[in-house]
Amino acid sequence: MVENPYLPKLAKIEAIKEETVDTRTFKIKILDEKVRNSFNFTPGQFVELTVFGYGEAPFSITSSPYEHENFSITVRRMGNVTRGLFRLKEGDIIGVRGPFGRGWPIEKIKGNDILIVGGGIGLAPLKPLIEYIILQRRLFNNVILFYGAKTPKDIIYKELFDIWKQYINVELTVDFAEKDWGGHSGPVTVLFKNFKLESNNIYSVQCGPPIMMHFVTRQLLSMRMEPEKIYFSLERNMKCGMGFCGKCMTGGRYVCREGPVFNYSEVKNFLETPV
Ligand SMILES: Cc1cc2nc3c(=O)[nH]c(=O)nc-3n(C[C@H](O)[C@H](O)[C@H](O)COP(=O)(O)OP(=O)(O)OC[C@H]3O[C@@H](n4cnc5c(N)ncnc54)[C@H](O)[C@@H]3O)c2cc1C
Repeated sequence: MVENPYLPKLAKIEAIKEETVDTRTFKIKILDEKVRNSFNFTPGQFVELTVFGYGEAPFSITSSPYEHENFSITVRRMGNVTRGLFRLKEGDIIGVRGPFGRGWPIEKIKGNDILIVGGGIGLAPLKPLIEYIILQRRLFNNVILFYGAKTPKDIIYKELFDIWKQYINVELTVDFAEKDWGGHSGPVTVLFKNFKLESNNIYSVQCGPPIMMHFVTRQLLSMRMEPEKIYFSLERNMKCGMGFCGKCMTGGRYVCREGPVFNYSEVKNFLETPV
């Protein structure tokens, strides 16, 4: 019998972690063992999550691809579905479809330097890539993470940066520094002050608010990084996640199926803010 691809699989919220005042990480376990065992994803892919009685929305998978019993998503409270999700408790049941989409170009970036740029909750789809790189560290050259948040209180995954620093270079900045903040302040582009493009063997991957990706891309292009080596994850309103409904179609492309990860030369003609 052909399975209905719109039918979500039941899953349980195993744990909820408060990241910031409006952002939580949900650890999720798919109930059916067979479905759970076949749930494999690559960093940058997403799931469609159903909160019963509220609706369905896409969320990036944020756990390591090496974790098999559970997976995690990090969610900022915005509107209907996320409000419903924030009302749930550990043990409550949700629905999951996926994983969907084209993730980060892992095979292409192997053997190269990598500049990872994240802004705010945009670090969520980058985290599984960072964890993949750390576990396969010898397959990658220099790896740098630039991460920016509005204030120190808005930084997500706070406990992970010291661990990541043992394997990759990590620089943080906040738009609005507070008294005890000893780090950089200003938009994420301030971190480019001491950054030089030393070779052509470098890829950049980024996810954050559109304004951040606009200025970071402009910066990278001005440093002569090749457009094919500048990757982003694009968040667009989407519904089915499988390239059927057309809701996410932008510039003739299904963001859900052909993306959400694209390189600059693939999307430059349909980005709202021309770089
Ligand atoms: C591939 C992909 C991955 C995503 N990953 C994450 C993630 O990891 N964490 C996370 O918190 N969110 C993520 N999102 C966004 C998420 O799917 C929801 O759109 C968002 O949480 C709002 O849903 P809601 O039902 O709570 O709000 P709604 O009631 O739908 O809307 C609240 C407001 O947000 C606007 N809005 C809704 N969706 C979008 C959108 N995609 N882009 C721009 N504006 C929108 C609405 O127009 C409205 O103004 C992702 C989206 C995509 C497409």
